[in-house]
Parts: sequence; structure tokens; C-alpha cells
Amino acid sequence: MAYLDHNATSPIRLEARIAMERVGTIGGNASAIHCTGRAARAVVDHAREQIAGLVNASANEVVFTSGGTEANALALWGAVHAATDSSAPIARLLVSAIEHDSVLNTAAAIAERTGVVCAQIPVTRDGVVDIGALEQLLAEGSARALVAVMAANNETGVVQPIGDVVARAHAANALCLVDAVQACGKMAIDFVELGADYLTVSAHKFGGPQGTGALVMKANAPYAPQMPGGQEKGRRAGTENVIGIAGFGAAAECLTHDDASNTARLRDRFETSLRSRSPDVVIFGEAAPRLGNTSNFAIPGLPAETAVIALDLDDVMASSGAACSSGKVQPSHVLRAMDVQRELAACGLRVSFGWNSEEADVDAALDALARLNSRIRERKAA
Ligand code: PLP
Repeated sequence: MAYLDHNATSPIRLEARIAMERVGTIGGNASAIHCTGRAARAVVDHAREQIAGLVNASANEVVFTSGGTEANALALWGAVHAATDSSAPIARLLVSAIEHDSVLNTAAAIAERTGVVCAQIPVTRDGVVDIGALEQLLAEGSARALVAVMAANNETGVVQPIGDVVARAHAANALCLVDAVQACGKMAIDFVELGADYLTVSAHKFGGPQGTGALVMKANAPYAPQMPGGQEKGRRAGTENVIGIAGFGAAAECLTHDDASNTARLRDRFETSLRSRSPDVVIFGEAAPRLGNTSNFAIPGLPAETAVIALDLDDVMASSGAACSSGKVQPSHVLRAMDVQRELAACGLRVSFGWNSEEADVDAALDALARLNSRIRERKAA
């Protein structure tokens, strides 16, 4: 089987499994004061150091959550609620048009339920956030804004100019949330250097377990917890997922030994061969800086939904950006934001490589696509 869907979930690493197995034998609630509780607390504290190390933050800036979705929601709601009573409440959310649904939908819900206004920052045809448009939006009102721009897009892999975004946002007294869920582990993420107020990560994107992530936030970032409870210094209520957190930390530790050039080499070979076999292929975001592991492409006339099913039957796991909502297949909002025509966007396929990808996976994907393409051509000719 060729598993080429690491951007959806990367298979769990052996090191993470071993850590989880070991911690599973400890048991214990990290809030308990007895010896077993203290052992669980030590596991959480160690993992907190590991995650802080991964993004160059300090350990007390790391809040464990149930994943990237919760971390994004906590940052957005937390900032909006915290600032309500302060002298500079958040009155505007400026979110890039290519954000993950966990940001887009939360921002929309905040706009619906509060007086906060939400606007989208457009992207260029290459899928890069339009800095000029961001500046314009920031200048449009004097009310304090929160800007949300991801470090790298999950569908195209396009890396965003976060340094510029944060600088522009801060110059306008706005706060900044960087969703680094997809970027983390695939490129260097430095919380200090980026200067963002909030940053989010998720374990299962780099070989940790699903259901564990973190919100990293500056000590002085406005924040109100969404549920009452004492855990995570009152910032996120609920008993810590000690086993998951141990796996998260162990997977983060593995990243220091990863060779990112391996996935980039596989991805580049995939794209070069694909282009020579299908010269009409369109590779989205190709002209922009991209994560080395991601390829999002369309072969005109090959609908993505058909392709994903056919590839699956051929033991190749890929994904399409299209989402099914209300029984209708909707082309990816990311490709639409990049002004890709609807018909072409409906052909958008993504392959994403990761820590256990091999040359054989590239060959399997290319061969399966070639077989599928020729079947479609034969059917059209008949
Ligand atoms: N943000 C981005 C960019 C993502 O790609 C994802 C998952 O696909 C998430 C957030 C949500 O993370 P989680 O699956 O941990 O909730």
C-alpha cells in the first residue's frame, strides 16, 4: 500500500507508540498529588518541554488541547472573550481565505454570535496571502483586529509570509494567530522569531497520536478560558490526556532527526515524472514556496472524486480537496480562493509524503494514475 496522505494524518511513529505504551502502564491523573499522579505530571511536564523545544517557545507558553481544531477555537474565542472587558476589545477578525475550516468556521460563528466583524484576506493565484490586501483591511478601521494566517496551507503546501503578516498586524495594534498545524515538522517554526501571539500545532500531522495538540501563546496574550477548570494553569479545563501527550512529545522529539530533504526529493520526482507522463497537468501553488512534502495537482478531465476512489482500489491513498456538503461535491475553498476555475478545481488531487515514504510509493502513485488515465482515455474514445 502506498500511503500518500500524511497531511490528513501521518502514521503513528514507533517512538510515539513506545512512549504511549510505557506511560499506559503508569496510569494516574496528572493533578493527583500522590506518587502515581506525580509520575503522570512528570510525563506531561517532559512533553511540554519537548513541544516548547519544537517551536522555540517556553514551556509555560504551551497549553495542551485535543488537537489543532480545539487550539484554533481556543485562541479565537479566548482572544475575543478576554478582550471584551479590556480597553482594546477585538472588534474584527481578519482571516485568510485559505485557512482551515477550524479557523474559518470558528471565525464565522464568532461573527454570528457576537458583534465582531469577520473579513477574509484574499490570496494571490499562487496561493500566497495578499499582504497589500491585509494592509488595506487593517487600515479600514481603528477597532482592534485579530489576524489569522496559517504558516503553510494543508491542501497546496504553500508557505505563507508569516513574518510580514505579524509585522503588519502588530504595527496596526492587531493580534496574530498562526495555525502551524501543517507546517510544524515540515519546516522550522520559531515562535520567538515569528512573534505571533498565538500558534497552534497538532500531533497527528507528524506521527503523534490523533486527539492531541497544543495552543502556544505569549504570556501577555489576551485570553479567556472557554470552560472553568484548573488544568493547564486554568487555560484549558479537563484531565490531561497523559498517554496522548507522551506520544505527542515523543513524535516531536523524532522531528529533530527527520531528513526533510527526503520527502522533498520524493515529491519533486513525483511531479517531474507526472509532468512528463501528463503534460497537461496543472500543479497548484508551484510558483510559490511550498512545503517539500505536498503536491496538489489536477489532470484536466480526471475528476478528483473518481480518481481518489480508483487510486484507493489500486492501493494508493491520496486525497481530493473537494468536500461533500449537503450531498453536493464542492470544489476546495483553497483552490477557489486561488481563482482556479471550478471545473479544474474539481480535478484537484493531493498527495503528501512523510516520515515513512519511499521511492516505491512514488512509483505506485505514478503507475496507478497512468492506468487510470489510459482507462479514462479509452472510455472517451469508445
Ligand atoms: N489546521 C490545519 C492547517 C489542518 O490541516 C488541520 C487538520 O487537517 C487542523 C488545523 C485541525 O487539526 P486537528 O485534526 O488536530 O483537529
